[in-house]
Amino acid sequence: MNEGEVAVAGSPDRVFVFDTTLRDGEQSPGFGLNQEAKLEMARQLERLGVDVLEAGFPISSPGDFEACRLIAREIRECSITALARAVREDIDAVWSAIREAEDPQIHIVLSVSDIHIQRKLGLTRSEVIRRGVEAVAYARSLCNKVEYSPEDAGRADPDYLVETVEAMLDAGATCINIPDTTGYCLPSEFGALIARVLRGVRHPERAVFSVHCHDDLGLATANTLAGVMAGARRVECTVNGIGERAGNTSLEEVVMLLRVRQASLGLETAVDTTQLVPTSRLLSRLTGVAVQPNKAIVGANAFAHASGIHQDGVLKDRLNYEIMRPEDVGLDSNRIVLTARSGRHAFRYRLAALGLELSEDRFAVAWDRFLRLADTRAEVSDSELMELASQIG
Ligand SMILES: [Zn+2]
Repeated sequence: MNEGEVAVAGSPDRVFVFDTTLRDGEQSPGFGLNQEAKLEMARQLERLGVDVLEAGFPISSPGDFEACRLIAREIRECSITALARAVREDIDAVWSAIREAEDPQIHIVLSVSDIHIQRKLGLTRSEVIRRGVEAVAYARSLCNKVEYSPEDAGRADPDYLVETVEAMLDAGATCINIPDTTGYCLPSEFGALIARVLRGVRHPERAVFSVHCHDDLGLATANTLAGVMAGARRVECTVNGIGERAGNTSLEEVVMLLRVRQASLGLETAVDTTQLVPTSRLLSRLTGVAVQPNKAIVGANAFAHASGIHQDGVLKDRLNYEIMRPEDVGLDSNRIVLTARSGRHAFRYRLAALGLELSEDRFAVAWDRFLRLADTRAEVSDSELMELASQIG
């Protein structure tokens, strides 16, 4: 715990992780996966320890339907859900795809903002509530768990949002997910919205309250945090933050945020954090889309120290520049990257790691040659170091 941090009394409160990599993530351009790849990813998400796995949008295509069915049959440790619009045909498709799951849940989405109600649906507010109630009641006649997402809640009239949530709870919804579909909200606004919904409905304990944020303004993780601080206990997110447009809340960021700052926040997840990097890498391999090197937690540079001052500091004591250990997210150790900005300490450390102990004279020659080489490239590799050392003889 850092200085000035206030400890939260008692044992941490559990936050449930809902992964939508295979639905919201997979539907975005360049991230499409075939059935086999979806199943492989689902197995890794089970190993990672997510609580709810959204397998897809079954009505969208026969291939997606089949992928959802295979995942529901095989994955036993997570609750399995899939998406439906508020119409029977969609709900029936979800139910036939996931009914064999150990713990199935039907997820219904229907707009709640006036912009969507008027311009997308061409309905009135009361017609939308009626349609949602019918859909929730029908889904509950099939399945014990039904999640309702009032789409574009971030831009909706809060009073109408509360009225909608109340109606869906009465109809039997077991989870209410509040999405900031367009990534528009400020953290303070989104937190206040969640608090208002929780305060506004009678008996909020009837359901799990969840948040689903998008990263259009780079605020998805901050808004998700604001949501849980306001009382939501489920977070919808994706591996590597993939998803529509600028993406969804990044799973690894939320999980590590709650873990690294647990003493302040008093919240925890059941995710095995040592599986975060392997999961991220599997998704990159399956989709062929690399993660940006400076991405928090799972980027190639997230634990790499390149400047001489930082390298020297980390080699003396990792706490100098690290707030979490690479091992905690499934990396072997921090990467000391040799570049033209590196110092002697890091250079000697990497030589030693390669089994190259040089006398002081030879070290001075090697250092000089290293600096000239490093000026010509972004990073000096292990094989280049070996060659450089062998040339000195
Ligand atoms: Zn979304």
